[in-house]
Amino acid sequence: MKAIRVRAFGPPEVMRLEEVTDPAPGPGQVLVRIRAAGVNPVETYIRTGTYARRPALPYTPGNDAAGIVDAVGDGVRGISAGDRVYTSETVTGAYAEFALCDAARVHPLPGSVSYAQGAAVGVPYATAWRALFQRARAVPGETVLVHGASGGVGSAAVQIARAAGLRVFGTAGTEEGIALVLREGAHTVLDHREAGYIEKAVAATGGRGFDVILEMLANVNLARDLKALAMGGRVVVIGSRGTVEIDPRDTMARDASIVGMSLFNMPDADRAVVHAALVAGLANGTLRPVIGREFPLSAAPESHVAVMSPGARGKIVLLP
Ligand code: NAP
Repeated sequence: MKAIRVRAFGPPEVMRLEEVTDPAPGPGQVLVRIRAAGVNPVETYIRTGTYARRPALPYTPGNDAAGIVDAVGDGVRGISAGDRVYTSETVTGAYAEFALCDAARVHPLPGSVSYAQGAAVGVPYATAWRALFQRARAVPGETVLVHGASGGVGSAAVQIARAAGLRVFGTAGTEEGIALVLREGAHTVLDHREAGYIEKAVAATGGRGFDVILEMLANVNLARDLKALAMGGRVVVIGSRGTVEIDPRDTMARDASIVGMSLFNMPDADRAVVHAALVAGLANGTLRPVIGREFPLSAAPESHVAVMSPGARGKIVLLP
């Protein structure tokens, strides 16, 4: 099969398309023929070699894929060759024509959802669902600010929160992103390039502030987020690319919480809950992953440049 291989950590160009041996499923494993693979920012961090997770070289990047089950190993129940599926992690890497996965990381993909959309689910939708309900404990009727709502995680969070009965505010940094956030269900959208936009958002809540803020760029926004929370409000730090100075008194004044999360820490039992909810939402049409750009598998380097550039409009996927 063809697969992207990284033989040395470094810039996007270290990813090259190579011919590698076809994998075969061992006990408890599923072999998926990949139709689309999702590109997540974390795969760019790992590729540089400076992230906490450093895979042994050479490796094939990628967690998220959607495709068709090609074969299953001994002991796999409930998944058969020919099934449409998406993955939430792979053993051999998702930027490839085939991926081996543990059976627990393979989930049914409803027929109404395209493979490109399926490749947008694993990391982004699971992150959004876990952030909202397992970390922030959001409940219907609360008000949420999705800070960075035009990207993979943010657009998922807007759809999930809207379907669950929250009042949803979202931010984006381009006209196209703003239109996307409104289209996907935000009640109110703000431009995070505009001066004073957070104060404007708080004013639009009648001055009360937000019960929950999902934060995609905490190093830029956390200090102001804390001033925009309602009493008992929670900020979930999903993304951050540097350090930030905050005033701890802002948390005291509101009985507020700053909650971190990494999907890598999610216990298996929580993961089962999340994907049960996501499969149901995909099947009933409340979750509709938005595909912003598609690249051929050989253009993995270009896809990594794109995912780190401003102007998100949903998800970036690779098509083998
Ligand atoms: P993405 O698709 O590239 O989206 C990035 C988002 O950040 C876009 O909506 C972008 O908006 C927005 N953004 C840019 N400048 C901003 C600002 N000043 N304030 C607020 N938002 C801003 O990436 P993603 O897949 O959604 O991931 C988002 C972040 O979460 C990344 O840092 C990623 O590494 C992290 N993440 C963490 C976990 C975890 O487990 N903790 C899991 C998944 C992702 P515009 O482009 O419209 O300006």
